[in-house]
Amino acid sequence: MRMTNLFFATLRENPADAEVISHQLMVRAGYIRKLTSGIYTYLPLMWRVVKKISDIIREEMDTAGAQELMMPILQPEELWAESGRWEAYGKELMRVEDRHGRMNALGPTHEEIITALVRDEIRSYRQLPVNLYQIQDKFRDEIRPRFGLLRGREFLMKDAYSFDADEAGLDLSYQKMTQAYINIFNRCGLETRMVRSDSGAIGGSVSHEFMVLTRTASGENDVLYCDSCAYAANSNRAESRMPQARTDGGFSEAQEVDTPGIKSIEDLANFFKIEQSAICKTLVYIVDEKPVMALIRGDRTVEETKLKNALGANDIRIASNAEIEELTQKFGLNTQAGFIGPVEIDIQVVGDESIRELTNFVVGINRTDKHLVGANWGKELSLPEKIVDIRLAFADDFCPECGGKLEITKGIEVGNIFKLGTKYSETMKATFTDENGKEKPFIMGCYGIGVTRTAAAAIERYHDKDGIQWPVAIAPYHVIVVPVNVSDELQMSTAEAIYDELCDKNIETVIDDRDERPGVKFKDADLIGFPIRITAGKTLSEGMVEIKIRSTSEVLKVPKEEAVSKAIELINMELTKQMTLPAGV
Ligand code: ATP
Ligand code: MG
Repeated sequence: MRMTNLFFATLRENPADAEVISHQLMVRAGYIRKLTSGIYTYLPLMWRVVKKISDIIREEMDTAGAQELMMPILQPEELWAESGRWEAYGKELMRVEDRHGRMNALGPTHEEIITALVRDEIRSYRQLPVNLYQIQDKFRDEIRPRFGLLRGREFLMKDAYSFDADEAGLDLSYQKMTQAYINIFNRCGLETRMVRSDSGAIGGSVSHEFMVLTRTASGENDVLYCDSCAYAANSNRAESRMPQARTDGGFSEAQEVDTPGIKSIEDLANFFKIEQSAICKTLVYIVDEKPVMALIRGDRTVEETKLKNALGANDIRIASNAEIEELTQKFGLNTQAGFIGPVEIDIQVVGDESIRELTNFVVGINRTDKHLVGANWGKELSLPEKIVDIRLAFADDFCPECGGKLEITKGIEVGNIFKLGTKYSETMKATFTDENGKEKPFIMGCYGIGVTRTAAAAIERYHDKDGIQWPVAIAPYHVIVVPVNVSDELQMSTAEAIYDELCDKNIETVIDDRDERPGVKFKDADLIGFPIRITAGKTLSEGMVEIKIRSTSEVLKVPKEEAVSKAIELINMELTKQMTLPAGV
């Protein structure tokens, strides 16, 4: 490709609405243009990246025994009504009316369509298992489309659906997809971790997300991961072992002490000159409209999703000060927030595991401006019946599996895998006959990858102040050849010769034949992120060209005759770099 023909334009300024680096760089480097909120045109550079990721996905899915097909985007209401999701999906489901007044959905995912298809096509266990996938535009009317391709309204997804005759079959399908995903992200040059996740809206039992660890501040999820083993989890479900802390308050007897206006854990610790870890913290939450008390060691934080899950609740929020005071009044007390505690208020109490080891500790007892010091479980207070892990895991806690140190980073979910079971096959009456001639619902799994989100995640992971640093496998082109001055005959003819030879060897190459200042050309090459730049400039007087490796900024001087073989060597080296593999299921 000649740069003078390439349909692209680079911009100096970040677009005003671009909060994250991948969005900024994709716009500035000429990869995408916005049509309207959450909807983008993929320009030729972007489309090459998308196709590369898609091809890697296809190869690995096919190797795993899946078959590609293509399902319609426009889907009739009746199918969605069958599964109950016409109602349940909510406003993210884009609904459109046709000329006959019939309602349709723009597919945000395709469980309904694939289940109906397989219901009609497969009759016998002999035709199972089957795994069908497509790579297709999805439409979701996201409440807050943002971050460019990370959360769009229209985006490209690979979605696969497995159908098995029994649970053992599903386990095997799931395992195959796990391995395919590990291979896919590894080949894209991305370090991912597999984390267990809630099954969310789709339902079902086991599910995992594949997270790109960005190792920077960008990403929508906080992920705790162990550097010694493969453990990783979203912060809303990560477990940890706590480091040693002083959990004894050192008081020789239990007594009520005046603590005027001292409400926060920090102030209490200062007031009594004790560690925060020797205080029992009481919090009140409104859980499905009912008040619940949560107890946790003073230096730790309640993780609300964990608490919600522990209570099997749908909705949770922290109570306001007014609600707390009202609650204490209901029990004949008149306590201000900051002094509440697990006594005399007869509501559900949940304790975090961290409170077990507290001794001679400080705790609120529903007397305004007072605290109890020197408290012990089983004496002044009884340990709550329900003790569970409702604690936010911190970086520097220990790994629950191997005891290594936990670290925290932002993560981006690029894919996920679900064991759906019979959720759709039962409601949609999709059955087959088993070996005994009995009708049984299909056992299903579904497996998604955000193709365009994966591209954005790669930029979040690999960039510097000058632009994108694509992993070679998904870069739009491998090499850019830059003649510094197009009116210099030697530079131009050398560049053209190298360009021709690279193209002959099937190396995807661009020649920057624009009559631009060298600074502009180098800036654009860095911004767009070509993994290898070959510069034909002044060094040609010694018969040399320069090769710059984008990911390390290393510059090599090589004889011009060796430029092509060196570039190929570097590309192959980058391609075979091993990523950290997440462990299997
Ligand atoms: P999220 O929790 O991020 O909303 P999800 O659980 O809705 O994701 P799925 O329905 O399982 O995701 O979709 C499969 C994959 O599609 C996700 O892992 C993600 O990579 C991608 N994806 C989902 N929503 C979007 C979006 N709005 N824009 C881009 N990619 C998306
Ligand atoms: Mg979503």
